[in-house]
Amino acid sequence: MKRLVAYDLDGTLAESKQPIDPETAALLARLTKVALVAVISGGDWPQFEEQLIGKLPDDTDLDRLFLLPASGTKLYRFRARWDQVYAELFSEEERKRILKALASTVAEQGLGAARSWGDRIEYRGSQITFSGLGQRAPLDAKQAWDADFAKRKRLQAALIPLLPDFAVRVGGSTSIDITRKGIDKAYGMAKLAKASGIPADEMIFIGDALYPGGNDYPVHEAGFDTIGVRDVAETRRVTEAIALCLK
Ligand SMILES: [Mg+2]
Repeated sequence: MKRLVAYDLDGTLAESKQPIDPETAALLARLTKVALVAVISGGDWPQFEEQLIGKLPDDTDLDRLFLLPASGTKLYRFRARWDQVYAELFSEEERKRILKALASTVAEQGLGAARSWGDRIEYRGSQITFSGLGQRAPLDAKQAWDADFAKRKRLQAALIPLLPDFAVRVGGSTSIDITRKGIDKAYGMAKLAKASGIPADEMIFIGDALYPGGNDYPVHEAGFDTIGVRDVAETRRVTEAIALCLK
């Protein structure tokens, strides 16, 4: 019996960097009545606030939600208001090394010249994210930028030898996520098991990037039960089925 359902955010609960739609939000609220619900994303807390929190219906059981930004290196719980339970941050030295490696690799590969919308490099405390078109690029431009994964895979391959102590992963449709080694969504799920007191085999994870190299893949590799979804519509169907089963 599953007691906790964990979701990826971008591409799973919501379109990349977009707010969750009302139908999906209502389904999540319904799920909080029958299970604990977690959201784990490479994105940082402000993204959770913009995409998720403000959009949840009033009848959501907020105290049954676990929100894990930056791949679970941060945990937020609701206790009259949203509280940060923990946060694991880069040292200043780690931060500088990563930014230097990113700047030189991006320049080398000629990815620095094209148009961008907002910052391309985002420091998220425990994660640094490079977004090829900037943080606020429109969805269609993002989807067209690297549809065959070639740019992101090239960038990833060039960064790995420069940052041997770090994990370099393909994130969203235009992004590369860099964290300390061992920090990924599987790490987040293990932290979640501890924080919630729910054993790993009573948790299930739903994500759109469960393919090898995807930022949800480590959850599958770590042996958690997972459900891969193509898009938000499929997440809704899966969520509806789980809510019915657990009722
Ligand atoms: Mg995703």
